[in-house]
Amino acid sequence: MEDCIFCKIIRGELPSRTIYEDDLIKIIMNINPATNGHLLVLPKEHMVNIMDTTDEVITHSLSIIRKLYPELKEKLNCEGLTISQNNELGQEIKHFHIHLTPRYKDDLLEFTYDKNMISDLDEIFNKLK
Ligand SMILES: [Zn+2]
Repeated sequence: MEDCIFCKIIRGELPSRTIYEDDLIKIIMNINPATNGHLLVLPKEHMVNIMDTTDEVITHSLSIIRKLYPELKEKLNCEGLTISQNNELGQEIKHFHIHLTPRYKDDLLEFTYDKNMISDLDEIFNKLK
């Protein structure tokens, strides 16, 4: 993709702070971090979102994340790791990416949502089951 920022980073046309790279993925520092050490896992091939990615990329990414986590804990002194991935709404850059957000005590990085938008649990369960 010509204009995709992450493709440009992968091609080396834009700079990045790369902390890991192999044939399938690149892990870079988020330039707008939510916490210290906020990373983005990018497939090297352009994929838009979860529907467009491959099982291989997802499995491989999670495997690398599992290997990386103890090192992140040690080096960042974080106490947890939130792994998240937005599709369509909330996805700023339309190139599949997984957020790795190190968690620190009292970092206030919790999901907040409007409780008025929450429907009856059974009503939703009946739609999903
Ligand atoms: Zn791209």
